[in-house]
Amino acid sequence: HPAPLPALDTLVEGVRSGHRAMLARAITLVESRKPAHRAQAGALLQALLPQTGRAIRVGITGVPGVGKSTTIDSLGSHLIAQGHKVAVLAVDPSSSRTGGSILGDKTRMGRLALEERAFIRPSPAAGTLGGVAARTRETMLLCEAAGYDVVLVETVGVGQSETAVADMTDTFLVLMLPGAGDELQGIKKGIIELADIVAVNKADGANLPRARAAASEYRAALHVLGGREPFWSTPVLTYSGLTGEGIAPLWDEVLKHRARSEAAGAFGTRRSAQQVKWMWTLFDERVREKMRAEPALRTRLPAIEHAVAAGELSPTLGAAKIAALFGWADS
Ligand code: GDP
Repeated sequence: HPAPLPALDTLVEGVRSGHRAMLARAITLVESRKPAHRAQAGALLQALLPQTGRAIRVGITGVPGVGKSTTIDSLGSHLIAQGHKVAVLAVDPSSSRTGGSILGDKTRMGRLALEERAFIRPSPAAGTLGGVAARTRETMLLCEAAGYDVVLVETVGVGQSETAVADMTDTFLVLMLPGAGDELQGIKKGIIELADIVAVNKADGANLPRARAAASEYRAALHVLGGREPFWSTPVLTYSGLTGEGIAPLWDEVLKHRARSEAAGAFGTRRSAQQVKWMWTLFDERVREKMRAEPALRTRLPAIEHAVAAGELSPTLGAAKIAALFGWADS
């Protein structure tokens, strides 16, 4: 059996004082699905709210093999040398604690994992994207309350997880592989639209010309597609996570984006919009949980779904029937 949870006050104080073990306990609490834990987690997060929001929140994405762990290891170490406290989190709805590759895994970031001022937490265990993202957001707040002033949130380049991470961060960094032409066809328009910074990794040794060629093609593509925000035109950099060359300029670009965003008044607007969107996501999740938890609801859903699939019931009427199960009648 796991050890009993410390009292709420103890957890709050432990997190505020940056006590690593207490932070880990607090994260375990917010990751728990038990209803009693959800209530305690809510109280914990509310108590810590004044200490949150102070970090620079950076989302990082890229296909497997692009060098996310190498980059975070290198960037994180650079930031710690500058005096920052760095938290590394991950959103991977397909991950499982028992196998497979787990984003944010300490073994993937060997140098950073040894740092006293780094905190690395793998993705919450597999679940709905909404659920995994919600747990990661809450963990981000806990890390901020514990004094981590840089939060790096990693995700893989699949599905909607990138949007989820862009929705919880201030600056979204898209990592690309060197190579022109072929790679360019792989640019997903949606991803470029999310990017605040595009960075071509592995710009070292024999890769250098290909990395530069890729960067200029991305620049041209961005010129056509346009940027995410009017005050910022998405820069394309080249760097090497392996040698560390270009890591400092990459971080400078993150700071520049933050400064421009604040100057344009967009920073506060983006965070406020994220907060409200997050609230609705959490509410949606509650509705789904309620459906799963209540047999009276759950047992009637398959028949409704089946009738809609078979074309016997219109989706509109199907949705009305589900709403009626909650007692929400159409007047
Ligand atoms: P991830 O799957 O995105 O986390 O990628 P990894 O960080 O695990 O890197 C995948 C592979 O690319 C590993 O073999 C790394 O050593 C290599 N790699 C990562 N960054 C660089 C780099 O800057 N230059 C070179 N040459 N190789 C790199």
